[in-house]
Amino acid sequence: MAKVIILLGKPGAGKGTRLSAFLKDKEDRYEVLSVSGLLKVEIRNNTDIGKEAKAYMDSGRLVPDSIINQIVINKLKSSEKPIFTDGFPRTVKQAEAMLEAGISPHVVIEFYVDDDVVIQRAKDRIVCSKCGEPYTTNSFKPSKVEGICDKCGEALIRRSDDNPDVVRKRLKVYEEETYPVVDVLRSAGVTIHSIDNTSGKAGEELEKLLKNN
Ligand code: AMP
Repeated sequence: MAKVIILLGKPGAGKGTRLSAFLKDKEDRYEVLSVSGLLKVEIRNNTDIGKEAKAYMDSGRLVPDSIINQIVINKLKSSEKPIFTDGFPRTVKQAEAMLEAGISPHVVIEFYVDDDVVIQRAKDRIVCSKCGEPYTTNSFKPSKVEGICDKCGEALIRRSDDNPDVVRKRLKVYEEETYPVVDVLRSAGVTIHSIDNTSGKAGEELEKLLKNN
């Protein structure tokens, strides 16, 4: 089985942005499993899973574990390259299902930032309506042409779940449901590496951690 590299962190902690910067010159060496990306494809294709997931996502709640495990576990098992998970596992049940399926993460990295940073970042964030690539409306990571994705040329939009009320709800859900995942993984003998993602050195630290992976 290919190596699984798990990225944890509050919504808006910058997982997707850091990952995209890390992969810039080595995209073909890794796969990326973005759970919300997969769910958005289901929504776009108007599948039963998409229809059920949308209401949860729009209100900042987590999509039920049964759906998530159904779309994620096989993808992780069948990957032929080292694979990053952005947004999995997000509950104790998901972590347990992953471990029971024989998937033992190779590296787990938790990005941490304060809640008020998350709320401000959500205000400043726009994403590609097609590929989900994140950009900022401030000078941190603007697109080259305003409103257009550098990667696929599609329009940039605000995420419906990036408004402050929904962000607060997502932070609460993270604290209640995702935080305990760290303990489950630790109990299974997995080391959790932490990176302060407000530090200018976060990118360097990520490179260092993944150097030999
Ligand atoms: P994200 O883009 O990772 O912040 O995810 C956006 C939304 O997708 C979340 O608020 C959830 O509704 C849903 N989602 C993403 N990953 C998961 C997961 N592992 N379990 C349940 N819901 C998820």
